[in-house]
Amino acid sequence: MGQSLPIFYDCLNCPSYCCTYPRIPVTQRDIRRLARHFDIDESVAEKRFTKKGWTKRERVLRHKKDETFGSACRFLDLETRLCTVHGARPAICRAHPDTPNCGYYTFLMSERRYQDDPDLVARAYNLPSDLRSVSKD
Ligand code: SF4
Ligand code: SF4
Repeated sequence: MGQSLPIFYDCLNCPSYCCTYPRIPVTQRDIRRLARHFDIDESVAEKRFTKKGWTKRERVLRHKKDETFGSACRFLDLETRLCTVHGARPAICRAHPDTPNCGYYTFLMSERRYQDDPDLVARAYNLPSDLRSVSKD
């Protein structure tokens, strides 16, 4: 029997920073799964849930406004910080972060320790527009 590697992050103790990445690419198979979940046509799901991505054919998940990080995946519950389509989430969400560590979680835990605040939500800007406004200040 294979041994599983230790994991050094706990998604249930995190405000789901990775769900705020501007680029969350989805495949046609992911769109089909979401369409089935909502019982709608694939073409409707593609238009409603995704938008043009970074490359010619890429589709990425649409976002909505998020007070914590500026913007977040449209499927993130902004109160609970949990995914509202967990059973039908795209493959990339299932695989992430695919390493024993999560960079954001390490940063979050470090800030919570230094600031002696177990509930601290460490801000991290990941939107190109945020980065531009920060660099102009
Ligand atoms: S993978 Fe990392 S950033 Fe994403 S929810 Fe888990 S701990 Fe948070
Ligand atoms: S589909 Fe769910 S897991 Fe994937 S980015 Fe959106 S909220 Fe996060």
